[in-house]
Amino acid sequence: MSAGDKLFGRLLNRHPPAPVVPPEALRVQSFGLQILLDAEGRVMQLSGPLRHLLAQQVPGAQSPQLHDFLLPHSGLIVEGSPAQWQGQALDLDFYNLNGPPLHLRGWVQPQGEAWFLQLLDIGDLLLERRQSRNREQCQMLALHIGEQLRLCSLSRLPEVLAEQLQSVAQRFHIPCIALALLDEQGQGWQIQQHSAAIDAPQLWHNGQRLGTGLDSLSGSAPQTLTPREHPRLQDTFGNTEGFAVPYHDAQGVVAWLLCGFYPVKQRAADITERDWLQVTAALAGPLLERLREHRHQLQLERLESLQALLGTGWWEVFSDSAEVQLAPSLAASLNLGTAHLPLQHWLEQVHPADREELRRRLQDLADEGAPLMLCVRLYRADVALAPVWYRLQGQALGLGKNRRLVGFMLDISDIKNQQQSEAAAHARLDNLIASSPAVIYVQRYVEGALQPTFFSDSLLPLMGWSLADCAPGTLVDRVHPDDRDHYFERTRQLLREGAVRARYRLRDSRGDYHWLLDEAKLLRDDLGMPVEAVGLWLDVTEATLAAEQVKQSEERYRILVEDSPAMICRYRPDLTLTFGNRPLAAYLEMTPEQLPGVNLGSWMSAEQREAFSHRLTQLSPEFPVSTAEINLQLPGREHAWWVWSDRGVFDEQGHLLEIQAVGRDNTEVRRSQQQLTQSAKMATLGEMATGLAHEINQPLNVMRMAIVNVLKRLSNGDAQVDYLTDKLTRIDAQVQRAARVVDHMRVFGRRSEIEQHPFNPAQAIEGTLSLLSEGLRGKGVDLRVSEPGFEVQVRGHVDQLEQVLINLMVNARDALLGKREKDSQFNPWIALYAERDSHSVRLWVEDNGGGIDPRLLERIFEPFFTTKPVGIGTGLGLSVSYGIVENMGGKLSVRNGAEGARFCIELPLVVAD
Ligand code: ADP
Repeated sequence: MSAGDKLFGRLLNRHPPAPVVPPEALRVQSFGLQILLDAEGRVMQLSGPLRHLLAQQVPGAQSPQLHDFLLPHSGLIVEGSPAQWQGQALDLDFYNLNGPPLHLRGWVQPQGEAWFLQLLDIGDLLLERRQSRNREQCQMLALHIGEQLRLCSLSRLPEVLAEQLQSVAQRFHIPCIALALLDEQGQGWQIQQHSAAIDAPQLWHNGQRLGTGLDSLSGSAPQTLTPREHPRLQDTFGNTEGFAVPYHDAQGVVAWLLCGFYPVKQRAADITERDWLQVTAALAGPLLERLREHRHQLQLERLESLQALLGTGWWEVFSDSAEVQLAPSLAASLNLGTAHLPLQHWLEQVHPADREELRRRLQDLADEGAPLMLCVRLYRADVALAPVWYRLQGQALGLGKNRRLVGFMLDISDIKNQQQSEAAAHARLDNLIASSPAVIYVQRYVEGALQPTFFSDSLLPLMGWSLADCAPGTLVDRVHPDDRDHYFERTRQLLREGAVRARYRLRDSRGDYHWLLDEAKLLRDDLGMPVEAVGLWLDVTEATLAAEQVKQSEERYRILVEDSPAMICRYRPDLTLTFGNRPLAAYLEMTPEQLPGVNLGSWMSAEQREAFSHRLTQLSPEFPVSTAEINLQLPGREHAWWVWSDRGVFDEQGHLLEIQAVGRDNTEVRRSQQQLTQSAKMATLGEMATGLAHEINQPLNVMRMAIVNVLKRLSNGDAQVDYLTDKLTRIDAQVQRAARVVDHMRVFGRRSEIEQHPFNPAQAIEGTLSLLSEGLRGKGVDLRVSEPGFEVQVRGHVDQLEQVLINLMVNARDALLGKREKDSQFNPWIALYAERDSHSVRLWVEDNGGGIDPRLLERIFEPFFTTKPVGIGTGLGLSVSYGIVENMGGKLSVRNGAEGARFCIELPLVVAD
């Protein structure tokens, strides 16, 4: 009997069976039970140690029968009388005072009249038989359970486990059964699977945590436990009757079979502890194995997918055979046909540039166990492809013969390529910063002060210092004294607001000041405390100085423009002013500030405005300047004449953007010119008075003659109506003629209008002739006028052109008359004719007065130049005429012809738009 069985027996409240007694000792009365029976089977005497345990069915009955001591089924065996029992073994179950019935076996022997029944305790014998039968069944059950759990698929494992628990429960009549395993973390126990009979209360549920109560019971040798004996189990069984069977492996107890509501001593008295352990082992062993297998598989899968994801995998080099084994995923990603290959073949995957180094390092690993860490490129036939980088790490495991070389390969192309492009970007940035007039700096925050800790390399070329030259506090010394307050404020603002933008001067190593644009940001830690300031200095010296110069020159120009007596302005092509200086504003009775937005055209008549705009359209990038005399109606004044110079400003496409203009008031000059013209006109008129007398005398004479004749006829009484009508008509014609002359004189004597108008020059010829022709003919001058065969328009004042023609013809007349005084045979003539081309019209006034002395030709247009005696010549005629023609955009010229002077008035034609 094993120690376990003994213990189990004790737990089951059993005593070890009595030693087997040899047959010859049967009569010895110190053991078993001896009963003396009479012939009818009545008990006469009891002896032997077991007699104390016997209990009578009817306690205290007189002369009890043998079957009064027996359990009912045993009573059948002893029917009849003892003589009939002779010769056979009697297996009898007696009532036991203390507990379970006594199983006794015995034989009857005659003893005189009586019968001697000798009985031995065969309880243990029976128990053992039952136990061995149970053991056999348990073994069968365990075998079946193990087989089921081992063979089922992983997915069905919980289901199969539940089935097997059920079959155990059925076999041993256990109301609640469960298998508890250590949880994954190994920190406590957990119900893996439970099963309860339909009528049993639910004691556990799957996945229930049981805490560590079972731990303290696991230390000793494996044994079944009941909560009654082990109070700590009460947590698990909830104060109900129960029973726990451990399962242990190399790590100790790793599973418990829990049986609830199960008084094991009563229900399974015949099941040994060994059987319980076996059944439990049959459940837990394969289950744990399967779970371990499952975990292992999961881990493998995770590892595989991790390797595939990372582009990594393990390798092992077998230095004996010069072969290498790779993780399948690694072999696949390297496009190797196999995961087991010669070392040389593996090395050939590596770029030649890295191959020898790897070989050497592997050798060092094999020889000295020096850990391997190397980044290598793979060899790729196509050099255009981006290189594939692997990081190789390896170590030697074990020593001597058992040394294994293992490691992993990790695809780090991403990191490497990123590193490379980062390095390139960094280099480019460094280069850029170094070559730009910018310095990047970092200042660390130390107790409210900012101390330089970093400058970009561009500091040295720009300022001539290095970081070492910038001990805390020295920066301020280099700030221009005038800018120091500004610099301190910059630091305060940076600390206060987290960002700042300032401009100040800093002295370089040569002592020159640089204007720096400083932009900085403050970086703070998680708690909001300043850590450091990162900033940028941009050298803006040139720009600042240039801006300063521009400002100064702008100021100079502004003063120049403001103080200039000339009108200066800028305006857009639609004539809206964008700027005008004080003189312009004064003319327009405004302040300079009011000028922008005002339209220059508002002081012009529609016609002037049109002419002005038309002139602007003639401006081009090639000929951007145009000058003209413009005429405006200023507020509160008559008319102003401005000599106006425009300069167009064009964009790249040649569009006119704006016009800059300078103007000068020419009104006074104009006015005196007009006065001059007027006085010259008056002089002409006065001078013509003689001619005019003749001009008017002529019709008067004709009328007087007519009247004398009519009166004569009337006194004769010979006045017929026809005759009278004829005479009166003649008189009327002469009156009209005289009226025309007087009318024209009046028109001519008026001041010219301000504005020029287009007119036909033939009008002026006609007017001139109406004033002069009679007088000239009267003086015997042949007037040769050829009517122009065309109609054209010139711009100006018709009376002024008339004045020019009168001047020329009067001068011609003077020359002719002067010549005739010397030669009475002389036949004077004046020719007046016109010709035109596409641009201009020319009016010719020619005479045969002998011409002008060539030495005087250049001077005759000068004012007050005359060759005539004082009181006769004014010397103004030609100079005023010259001005008038010029004002009309034309030209007055003279040359000597064959017989006399030849004057030409050339005038531009008005182009019909
Ligand atoms: P004025 O007639 O009062 O002298 P003008 O300016 O009209 O003033 O003429 C200037 C001078 O030009 C005249 O004095 C004369 O000598 C000369 N002159 C002008 N026209 C002629 C002409 N047709 N033939 C010759 N001399 C001329």
